[in-house]
Amino acid sequence: MVRERKYSAKRDAILALLRSTKTHPGAQWLYDRLKPQIPDLSLGTVYRNLNLFREAGTACSLGTVNGEERFDGITAPHPHLVCSCCGAVLDLPPEKAEALVQNGKKILAKESFSIDFRKTVFYGLCRDCDSQSVS
Ligand SMILES: [Zn+2]
Ligand SMILES: [Zn+2]
Repeated sequence: MVRERKYSAKRDAILALLRSTKTHPGAQWLYDRLKPQIPDLSLGTVYRNLNLFREAGTACSLGTVNGEERFDGITAPHPHLVCSCCGAVLDLPPEKAEALVQNGKKILAKESFSIDFRKTVFYGLCRDCDSQSVS
């Protein structure tokens, strides 16, 4: 019983942190920030919980970026921008994302293809990396 409660406290902390950030973190990022608050937390526990969230639909996996699986606490379908230089994963502003989703649906409706924007990823350079490459 006590064990159960301990596990779910960790699970809640991992989920709360995942939902509070826009960085689309991987397990290591979450672990580094939670470890000081939860000294007996292991990286394996973070991985295990992230997999549970993904299976339960509480969070979604964005796939691997720079060798690390990244997660999103926002489960409503929205496209992502991934920087191929630094690995930053960004959300478009909601109204732009919505316009893109609606546009994409309209275009592909003609092909009788229904798209799921959960895994839509645009690769490019983020603002920081782009300005560095210009100068
Ligand atoms: Zn970048
Ligand atoms: Zn996102």
